[in-house]
Amino acid sequence: MEKAIAAISTPNAIGGISVVRISGDQALTIADRVFKSISGKILGDMKGYTAAYGRVFDKDGDFDDAVALVFRAPKSYTGEDVVEVSCHGGIYVTRRLLRAMIDGGASPAAGGEFTKRAFLNGKLSLTQAESVMDIINSHSKQAARSAMAGFEGALFKKIQNINERLLNLSGHLAAWVDFPEEDIPVVEHDNLLNALGDCGTELNDLINGYDAGRLIHQGIVTAIVGKPNVGKSTLMNLLAGCEKSIVTEIAGTTRDVVEESVLLGDVVLRLADTAGIRDTEDMVERVGVSLAKKKMEQADLVLAVFDGSSPLSSEDQELIAEIKDKNVIAVVNKSDLENKLDIEYIQKRIKHIVIISAKNTNGLQELSDCIAGVLNLVHVDTTGAMLANERQRDCVQRAVSFVEESVLSIRQGFTLDAVTVSIELAIEDLLELTGERVTDAVVDEVFSHFCVGK
Ligand code: GDP
Repeated sequence: MEKAIAAISTPNAIGGISVVRISGDQALTIADRVFKSISGKILGDMKGYTAAYGRVFDKDGDFDDAVALVFRAPKSYTGEDVVEVSCHGGIYVTRRLLRAMIDGGASPAAGGEFTKRAFLNGKLSLTQAESVMDIINSHSKQAARSAMAGFEGALFKKIQNINERLLNLSGHLAAWVDFPEEDIPVVEHDNLLNALGDCGTELNDLINGYDAGRLIHQGIVTAIVGKPNVGKSTLMNLLAGCEKSIVTEIAGTTRDVVEESVLLGDVVLRLADTAGIRDTEDMVERVGVSLAKKKMEQADLVLAVFDGSSPLSSEDQELIAEIKDKNVIAVVNKSDLENKLDIEYIQKRIKHIVIISAKNTNGLQELSDCIAGVLNLVHVDTTGAMLANERQRDCVQRAVSFVEESVLSIRQGFTLDAVTVSIELAIEDLLELTGERVTDAVVDEVFSHFCVGK
């Protein structure tokens, strides 16, 4: 077992209770230095999954009531001995409890270190560990469901299954090449090509589903564009007032750019820099086309807003010409007023069109349905295997290239040795994906994105 680490596992904020977690060798001994149960129970003598009520102490005396929950290795999150001490949820008390644990002999845990230990102790695959982070970061039902599927091992099992088939093929080929005199059935080219083709198709399906997965996990970067006065700000405010809105500060810019994530139906829209647009309404006019262009370039989705109560202008036509290659929805606003817009002109050029009144909040449901349709999110099976991040996508991409290379080698009549080499390289990449064979650098990189305490 490793040296004990400790961290506050609840948010750094005031709440009903806070939890300080300690894991590793000596976890029970150290926790016993800090926690004294009322009934005289010693944590080190307690069974796993049992709790004790008592007081917590440091060198200045006792400072709070607490409940200590004991987990015994290997039946804990990390696979090590773990104690979770719940105290009252004040920031001062919680930090003092953590300090007491550290004075008692624990080291402060690095970000993601508990989950990293769970991975190293075989409690989780790397893809499952990554799902833990996705579950924490989920802002919508779909994202949470899909992250949970990853945590339950949907992707891991899928990759393992493909890998086993590849291993079978390479083992068979290697045996046949190495021991030609043995009675090993001849590898039929057609069977081999079919088996490799199936693996390639399944891997490619994962890659094709990646964009939808990314949008579900990370939200849809959305640009709202249109000439002045069509109702962009009104629509933005309407969206921002949706059920849940989360504001993320992105540091490192000249002024903090505010990105607002809003939940519309079952999708998360990321409306970048909405504050800027809302603060200075005429900024849109001033920066006009150039700002809109930049926003559109980076966007997964463009909402092009038109004023239904006035005729189509040359500005509108320019905008239509510019956005036709994007994932775009024409949003014809002000449906509460008499229509004067040439909707047919737009319809001919932009496939998806929704008529709303941002003022009366009419048409919001249609807009939400349309977004899911445009981005192909409707038929996404969030309970199935899905790639959750760039690292995973990259591993699969490399594996596919090697599988395709092996197919090509067969077609071009290369020796079966060459085919075996390609298959084995594909296997390597898939083992890296699941974390079964992975470098420390990759593991460190994955866990560096975790928060402390997880
Ligand atoms: P922006 O310049 O595109 O951001 O447009 P604004 O959101 O500032 O809206 C311009 C004007 O149109 C404001 O006076 C809004 O109140 C009005 N407006 C916006 N949406 C609607 C709508 O659905 N119906 C009506 N009647 N007026 C609207």
